[in-house]
Formats: sequence, structure tokens, C-alpha cells
Amino acid sequence: MRLKTENTFVLVNHTEILEALVGLKDVQVLAYERRGPKVTLVIEQTPGEVLCPSCEARAHVKERPVVSYVDLPVYGSAMTLSWKKHRYCCVNPACSTGSWVLSDHRIAAKNCLLTTRAAKWATRQVGDGRTVSEVAAELSCDWHTVNDAVLTYGEALLAADRKRLSITSAIGLDETSFVKHSGHAHPHYATTVADVQNHQIIEILPSRNYVDVAKWVNNQSDSWKERIVYGALDMSPAYAAVYSVALPRAAQVVDPYHVVSLANRALDAVRRRVQRDQLGHRGRRDDPLYRVRRVLLMGEEKLDDKAAHRLMSLLQMGDPEGEVAISYGIKERLRDFY
Ligand SMILES: [Zn+2]
Repeated sequence: MRLKTENTFVLVNHTEILEALVGLKDVQVLAYERRGPKVTLVIEQTPGEVLCPSCEARAHVKERPVVSYVDLPVYGSAMTLSWKKHRYCCVNPACSTGSWVLSDHRIAAKNCLLTTRAAKWATRQVGDGRTVSEVAAELSCDWHTVNDAVLTYGEALLAADRKRLSITSAIGLDETSFVKHSGHAHPHYATTVADVQNHQIIEILPSRNYVDVAKWVNNQSDSWKERIVYGALDMSPAYAAVYSVALPRAAQVVDPYHVVSLANRALDAVRRRVQRDQLGHRGRRDDPLYRVRRVLLMGEEKLDDKAAHRLMSLLQMGDPEGEVAISYGIKERLRDFY
């Protein structure tokens, strides 16, 4: 079909544009205009008979206001969607209903200046790590426009994700520390609840305390709780207690990373104790055990012959009873196990 627009004639296949650019039923393309880098798509809804929402009398079209939205970029440049809307009013003279505009959230949500598909696209871009300014530049629109859309749709996508992720049989609790910007010197701790089966985050709780985390687990539905067969955790007693009390049937699983880091901490404690026993003071720069402190925490396989030899001779000097060497061996065997 041939569409006449103000300055251009564009040959378009109606159905193709509907599929590719709008893809919605009850929506038709009125014009597709390309002037220089600017692309504008003009659409309207094709409503059947519309009734008054309060008295159900027939409504008639009062105005056709055109509202422009920022749409997805097409061929590298941002597209404008001009939506020729329908403003209706009730024909019943006794009805006090004012006029109303027909909306369609599949095209654009109320109070959002981006089309729904552009808002979803922008949200994913920002979710993948691009900045709001970059996305705004690509859409040739204002920073606030994109930011508002990302906040609105981000929340909705997260909610949809939570719903989808409710089907899992393995969760994990992990502690994350973060320093607040607002002048607090002490780090705050959060608990990440992850769906370890589907590698997704379910929730971030602003606490690592037993009471708060257990409360969150308790608030989940019974069917959700019954499904959990495995509970992964670092080795914190608080999370172990959460599982024991709130999900008693779930097998508690410790991540190899946490086991190895516990072994590393124990090895380091032995090194410091032997250091004090041997020399009567904390490690100093030239002390043999102080000099090997980092090498001890490295994996055996990462040491070349020279480094391995250096480790052995420093241990011979600083660790005559072989306590550090034995601890090191245990840590390495534990790593082998995994
Ligand atoms: Zn009415």
C-alpha cells in the first residue's frame, strides 16, 4: 500500500510494519515517515463500539489528540511514535462523566514518555550495565525520561522475575558488605537470597541477622518452602540457624569457596601462633613466617619451582615443629578434594 505523509511518499507493506514495528492487534499504522535521520511512525487504535464507563451509554469521539512517544531506534536512529488517540465523551446528557482518552498499556503506559517496548528495551540496557545517559543518547531523549522508565519497568521486571523464580529447589544465603555513602564509617551488611538452581538473585535483605533473615524465609508461601531441598550458605552460624529453624528439611550445603577460605583463615591463625611461639612477637618484615604469609594462601599449583623451594626453606627456618607446613598440607588436600 502507498501512504501519503506530509513530505514523503513511502511504499509500505502494512502488515509487515505492524508486525515489525507495532505487532499489536487493534492497532493500525497511518503513516511511516523518514525525513533525514528522523523516523516517525503514526498509529491509531481501531476501537469497536466504546461505551461510557459509568452509564454504559454509547460514547462518541470528541477529539483526536496526537501524542508523541520516544520509540525504539530504527536503522540506528531514534524513532518517534505519534499516537493519534481517541478522546471520548458520553452521549447521555444526564451523565456527568467527563471525557476520557482511550489508552493501551501495550503501546505506552500512562505517564511514560517512552513506548512500552522502548521502555523495556532501555531497562534491559541499563540492567546490562549501560548508563542511563548512554541509553538516553541512543534514544535521543532526556536523561529523566529514560531514568523514570527504567525505575518503573525495572520494578515490574523484577516482580515478574520473582514470580518466575519462585520455582526452585535450591536457595543460597550470602553475606554482602557495603559502605553507605551517607557518611557512615561502618559497613552495612546485607543478605543476598539467591536461586542457586537458576543462578538468579531472589531478594536482597538489608540485614544479616538471624531474626530478619528467618522472618523473610518464614513469610514465603508454604509451597515455596516445601520445595526447598538444598540451602547453600557461607559458614556463618546465623544462616545455619535460619535453615535449621525455618527450613529444617533442607540439606545445608557449604560452597567449596567458603570451606577453602575457612581453611585459609585457620592456616593463617596457625602461622601467627607459631610466629609468636618462636620469636615472641608479631610478624616483622624479615621474619621467615611473615615472608611466606602470602605464598601460604596461594594454591600449590601456582608456585613455580623457585617459589616452592623458597617456601620450603622459609618454613624450615620459621616452623621447626612443622605445624604451619602440616596446616598448609591440609589446606591443599582440601582444595584437591574439590
Ligand atoms: Zn455516561
